[in-house]
Amino acid sequence: MSTKSARPRWYAATLLIVMSTLGAGSLPATAETLLPALAPSQTPASPDPGGKQGSPLTDLNAYPKYTPADLEAAAAKERGARSAGPPPDKNTAEIVSREELSDGRVRVDFYTLAAEADPEKVADSLRKSGRKNVEVLRPEPQPSTDGEVQPMGPGDCTYGQAHAFTCPNVWWTNLGRRNPVVLFNDHSGATWPTTNAVYKWNQTPNIDSWYTWNNCNQAGVHCVGVWSANYGATGWIGHTNLIWASTKPGQIRDADVQLNDYYTGTYFTRNNVVTHELGHVLGLGHNDYWNDVMYYSANTREDIGGENPALLAQIYSIDRE
Ligand SMILES: [Zn+2]
Repeated sequence: MSTKSARPRWYAATLLIVMSTLGAGSLPATAETLLPALAPSQTPASPDPGGKQGSPLTDLNAYPKYTPADLEAAAAKERGARSAGPPPDKNTAEIVSREELSDGRVRVDFYTLAAEADPEKVADSLRKSGRKNVEVLRPEPQPSTDGEVQPMGPGDCTYGQAHAFTCPNVWWTNLGRRNPVVLFNDHSGATWPTTNAVYKWNQTPNIDSWYTWNNCNQAGVHCVGVWSANYGATGWIGHTNLIWASTKPGQIRDADVQLNDYYTGTYFTRNNVVTHELGHVLGLGHNDYWNDVMYYSANTREDIGGENPALLAQIYSIDRE
C-alpha cells in the first residue's frame, strides 16, 4: 500500500482548497441534510416499494463482515480475474465536478454516464447548469500494487486497482461508535436494488452500511438519501453528491445519491449503478479494472470485488473521534 496511487487530476487542487480552509468550523451531520437542488420534490410514489424494508436482503446474517482471510481470498480472486483479458472497446468515462461552498466545505459530484451518452456533451450540460470545475475522468490503468495490506501511512489510498478519493483522509466519522455507520435512507423505486447494494457493502470491515426505507430517525448515524426519479435525458444514470468537511481534508460529512429512471437499463445495470454510487459514498474513487463495480462506466458487475473492501477496511481501520 505504499506505491503511489493514480489520483484524479483534480485531487491536488481539491486538497489545496480543503487545506486552505483549515480552521473553519463544521459540525458533524447527524441528520439527512438534502441539498435542495438534488432531491426531487415529490414524495416516494408508494410506501416501501417492492417490499424493500421486509426484504430478506435486510437480514444482516446473510451479509457477514469479511474476515481477514476472506479479504485476502477475495483480493487474490480479483487479481486472477483481472489477468484474464483486456478491457472491451467501449466509451469509458465519468464526470466529476467540485466546488468550494460558502461555508468552506467542498462539494464533489460524480456522474455515471448512461450507455449512449457523449461524455463531453454531458460535461458541457453540467457546466451550463452551474456545476463548477467539471472534468471528464477516464481510466488510467496503473501497474498493480499487489501485496499485503499494510498499516496506514501517508499516500496510501490504493490497493491493487482500487482507489480512494484522497490520501489518507477519506472517512465517515465514528460518532462515538466502534465503526462509522452510514444509514442509507432509501427513497428509490422498486426497480432499484438499493437494499441489496447497501448490505453488500456492509460486508466491508470497519464501516457499517445500514438500510432504512424513508426514515432517518436514528440518532448518532449519518443518513444518506438515495433517490430515484425521472430526471430526464441528462446523460447520467447515477449521481453521487458528497460534501467534504472544511476542517478535515476528504472527510465526508454528507452525501446524497440520485438514480435516473429515464434510463431504465437492465436489472444488472441498475444493480451495478446503485452499488457503484454507494461505493463512492463510502469513500471509493474509481477502480481501473474494467470489470470492477467501481469502474468508470457501468458494466454487469454486481459484487463489491476483492480490492475495494480491502482498501475500505484499511482506510477505516485507524482510530478517530
Ligand atoms: Zn463513479
